[in-house]
Amino acid sequence: MNVLKNQLITAITLPTPFPVGDVNVYLVKGEALTLVDAGPKTEQAWELFKQKLKKIGYTPNDIEQVVITHHHPDHVGLLDFFPHELPVYGHSYNRPWLIQEKAFFEKQKQFISQLFTLLGVDSQHLKLLGEIDHLYTFSCQRVLSAPLKEGDEICGLSGWNVIETPGHAQSHIVLYNPKTCEVMGGDHLLKKISSNPLLEPPMEGDERPKPQLQYNESLKKLLQFPISVVYTGHGEPVYDAHKLIEHRLNRQHERAMNVLSLLNEKAMTAFDICRRLFPTAYERELMLTMSETVGQLDYLEDSHLITFQDENGVRLYRRM
Ligand SMILES: [Zn+2]
Repeated sequence: MNVLKNQLITAITLPTPFPVGDVNVYLVKGEALTLVDAGPKTEQAWELFKQKLKKIGYTPNDIEQVVITHHHPDHVGLLDFFPHELPVYGHSYNRPWLIQEKAFFEKQKQFISQLFTLLGVDSQHLKLLGEIDHLYTFSCQRVLSAPLKEGDEICGLSGWNVIETPGHAQSHIVLYNPKTCEVMGGDHLLKKISSNPLLEPPMEGDERPKPQLQYNESLKKLLQFPISVVYTGHGEPVYDAHKLIEHRLNRQHERAMNVLSLLNEKAMTAFDICRRLFPTAYERELMLTMSETVGQLDYLEDSHLITFQDENGVRLYRRM
């Protein structure tokens, strides 16, 4: 836990049961004592959270509101330990994930299994997707008190504005303070690892979002703002945000070029490519590795470097 350059913001680091490791949540002293993000729903995270709060003179009951950057369990699960009356704000796309809406989860499963079948994942490997439900045991069941959207100033936290940054999650926002040029960044920009733009069903309409393309746009969007620091969801703060954004965009382009070179040999399905890129990890992390692969293919298609054809219900990608 450390008090950051800005004395009004305290970072609290909590353990998660996920491969990403610890998550950072932030206590911000505005007109309302605000928590930005919560940890995962584990007793261990809750006990540590209370201990760390106590050291700086607070209890969970002192927290007056919570703002969430996105719906992932390591950022919202702990909300279940807080009183139900505590106001929670976030993008409206958090809603079905936060209330764990059965119909939405079914839609998500169906969407992924149809998409993955089209992308060449066989039925044996589709079974690996059971993991999605498991993840949500670490999440919460909450209703949003009010939705946040682009340009909103957070009530009780004046000076902080919402910037929508879809990509890593459709629900993702960051908070920006134009006076101090600070960003509460969630998982949008991390110092040590590149954020994974995850496949999700469309929140509106029928067309699948292309999270890698959205993510790149959301990164470029931040280049328009002067940034002194990004307080990140995992790991240390980022002080050279613009430089890191350029680096992330370049690295992504290089990864896409690597995928393009695989297609020199022959036309392939996304799943073929996924197994070439992640020969062992794909079995453990099918969702993450397929999201990464599809991200590169969407990027190459958008750059008019590849095309695809559906044959017998399976999509084959080839170079243009
Ligand atoms: Zn996340």
